[in-house]
Amino acid sequence: MAEVRILIEGYAKEVDGVEYACSSVTLVRAGQSNILVDTGSNRELLLEALRKEGLRPSDIGIVVLTHTHLDHCMLVGIFENAVILDGDSVYSFDGKISGHEGKVPGTDMEIVPTPGHDQFHCAVFVDTKEYGKVVVAADVFWWPEGASQSTDEASVLSLEDPYVKDPNALHASRKTILDSADYIVPGHGKPFVFNRDTIA
Ligand SMILES: [Zn+2]
Repeated sequence: MAEVRILIEGYAKEVDGVEYACSSVTLVRAGQSNILVDTGSNRELLLEALRKEGLRPSDIGIVVLTHTHLDHCMLVGIFENAVILDGDSVYSFDGKISGHEGKVPGTDMEIVPTPGHDQFHCAVFVDTKEYGKVVVAADVFWWPEGASQSTDEASVLSLEDPYVKDPNALHASRKTILDSADYIVPGHGKPFVFNRDTIA
């Protein structure tokens, strides 16, 4: 079964009037593959986190991008041996593009369309022994640094997203994820256990 490690806990913050944003970066080891979901934008943090896992960028075989906002995808070019997946396609560094069937190739990991924050946003669903069903949800759920992170259903369904493109689609995407997730990795903020016992 797949193993999940959070390499970077995503952040979005303002320091002295300057904005900083880097997405969460999640490593999944599944079968023979080292898979990253999103790359973030902080090169130093990412390289250091990979080093701690005993990995070089060239050891990553697949990168899934949840959407193409630069704070999530900026470092994709350093993974020279990887194929790059988005919500519907597989890209390689010779420019080849092919489709995928909603799965990360060679694994049971699902790539599920979750539009709203961005029209082409997707999330990655991974079954694990340690955490149950992990959903790397990216910006379907995110918090700026310092915000109180309430994770009951009502709070996460009504989270403000100042960058939302389609609020109704975002709400539906949140429901899709909450319906099956045990553990959620947000785009920015702390990963959280989704506890269905708190559902009214
Ligand atoms: Zn983001």
